[in-house]
Amino acid sequence: MTSYTVINPATATPVTQIELASVEETDAAIERAQAAFPAWREVAPGERARLLRSFAAVVDAHLEELAQLEVVNSGHTIGNARWEAGNVRDVLNYYSAAPERLFGRQIPVPGGIDVTFHEPLGVVGVIVPWNFPMPIAGWGFVPALAAGNTVVLKPAEVTPLTAIRLGELALEAGLPEGVFTVIPGKGSVVGERFVTHPLVRKVCFTGSTEVGKRIMAGCAEQVKRVTLELGGKSANIVFADADIAKAAASAPYAVFDNAGQDCCARSRILVQRSAYDEFLGRLQTAVGGMKVIDPGDEDSEMGPLITDKQRDAVAGYLAGIEAAFTGPVPESDGFWLPPTVVLTDDTQAAVWREEIFGPVVAVMPFDDEDDAVRLANDTEYGLSGSIFTRDVGRALRVARSVEAGNLSVNSHSSVRYWTPFGGYKQSGLGRELGPDAPHAFTEEKNVFIAQD
Ligand code: NAD
Repeated sequence: MTSYTVINPATATPVTQIELASVEETDAAIERAQAAFPAWREVAPGERARLLRSFAAVVDAHLEELAQLEVVNSGHTIGNARWEAGNVRDVLNYYSAAPERLFGRQIPVPGGIDVTFHEPLGVVGVIVPWNFPMPIAGWGFVPALAAGNTVVLKPAEVTPLTAIRLGELALEAGLPEGVFTVIPGKGSVVGERFVTHPLVRKVCFTGSTEVGKRIMAGCAEQVKRVTLELGGKSANIVFADADIAKAAASAPYAVFDNAGQDCCARSRILVQRSAYDEFLGRLQTAVGGMKVIDPGDEDSEMGPLITDKQRDAVAGYLAGIEAAFTGPVPESDGFWLPPTVVLTDDTQAAVWREEIFGPVVAVMPFDDEDDAVRLANDTEYGLSGSIFTRDVGRALRVARSVEAGNLSVNSHSSVRYWTPFGGYKQSGLGRELGPDAPHAFTEEKNVFIAQD
């Protein structure tokens, strides 16, 4: 197969055909990125900053175009898609401040001076999943470019359109040829070549834990640097002393946003037993009121799943299980499922353990704080989670005890580009975003200069 037909998931109709790169074309792109590296790393910090700000401005000027492309390609609601394109712009602006601030240290030593430098790695390969094509691309390529690396980026096979456009916009903004190259193609071809090609010095991967493990093993061959952002099965812990109305009203959006295809989805809800009935009653009202409609509609709160395959895989988890209640779903040829709530007290049930990556949430009661923490941590994952309580001490204790990289109290905060993001356990390795992200794309070099 040398081309892929992009399908609109809301309607199941073809959108366009995309040529998929071969190994030879991937090698050629990597070599062009390597050829562009020496000049890019020498671009004066202020000039590299200006180019990134210029890229941000061009993205901003095309924000609506990018958002509409994502609605058609990925079925994202138009509100989300605008936020996602804006996130790429904001991440570019944020890290445009990095080139001039990539400080080393001066460390006291006898007989001279000792200084450290953060030097770029070379060519960085960014591999992106289909669930958030724009932001996840930006979280990789922007700090990598800011730190002086050149980047080759592979979008997911099913969602290449916005990444391809971002590659064009980079050139329009004045980034030199070869500095940022988007290569649409298969994981087994382009993605694997990023792992095996010796000129790619780091792989920045976001996707499933299964593929992430293979990438880590492959990178070990060359001791290649790797960042992994993988799956999740995050807990939303609701204590009886919380604002139950607020917790129940917000819970559907913490799991059903993007039709549940979110690595941070709070797909396990733990509710303290004394508040369980009240919470469920309010949750049912909230889920029933969700606007699961055409994602291009300004009011849409949830769209379709990405492919028929993904819809069928999610539906498979529900076979033989009686849902407690569901939300609405439109009549359509697209890949839709309703938001679905399942009750369970079985910690071995697949709906409780596995990352379903669809609009399914499992709810379980718990007795006390220790019980809640034990249940929340009883998973191989550790990406995010939420804690609802009015007791500040408890909020702090539980937030420190849950083994996850990103927790929010009395909210389900989404990822902020200026704070670090990443997973514990099998949810990942390394951190993205936040003030230190450019360091993940550099080597620290130590130099001693004798004074005599
Ligand atoms: P996936 O692992 O199937 O694919 C991710 C990317 O890897 C795609 O571009 C794919 O083409 C590529 N790929 C596949 N096989 C490869 C190989 N052998 N070598 C190199 N590249 C290969 O994941 P997906 O289905 O696209 O995305 C969903 C998964 O991503 C979920 O598990 C989700 O939790 C995870 N995810 C994690 C985060 C995070 O930040 N932690 C964010 C979003 C999604």
